[in-house]
Amino acid sequence: MDLRSVIREIPDFPEKGIGFKDITTLIKDKEAFKYAVDLIVQDLKDKDIDYIVGPEARGFLMGAAVAYALGVGFVPIRKKGKLPAEVVRKEYSLEYGTDILEIHKDAIEKGSNVAIVDDLMATGGTVCAVAELLEEIGANVKAMEFLIELSFLKPNEKVKKYHVNSLVKYE
Ligand code: 5GP
Repeated sequence: MDLRSVIREIPDFPEKGIGFKDITTLIKDKEAFKYAVDLIVQDLKDKDIDYIVGPEARGFLMGAAVAYALGVGFVPIRKKGKLPAEVVRKEYSLEYGTDILEIHKDAIEKGSNVAIVDDLMATGGTVCAVAELLEEIGANVKAMEFLIELSFLKPNEKVKKYHVNSLVKYE
């Protein structure tokens, strides 16, 4: 199955000059959605994963499906102020300015093996902030899984110490 054919590119979104990769067309296609989730599960099944961690918001869509299919729990990472219980937070750089990601402090037991699942890796900034947050609370980051990698933005330098699996790469 050619996943690339069900990813829609929207020019000039969210700002001029950016070609946004729209995954809503992939996940509404029942065959493509299942195929993508199954490929990620296949890559994770021998890694002794305890939790799938997904960053807001598109990481929830893929991450929860992968967790269900793998038979493990799902832990959300959210933007500042959204999680109700005590949190640990991480500030990270965006193209302009900074943002804050949070996880519940008690979400993951120390020494657990986790995999991060998100729709897309662009610069790698988001996934690195998520990995640092997880390591801070004592989790082992065993894998990073993406539907899409924007390889031309060279995220790999940042994540080279991790196992990274991207289903579709744009060179
Ligand atoms: P990074 O931090 O790697 O530069 O950006 C990745 C984050 O931004 C991911 O959480 C992803 O959801 C979002 N993102 C950036 N560009 C795109 C895009 O073209 N399409 C989609 N679907 N998400 C994007």
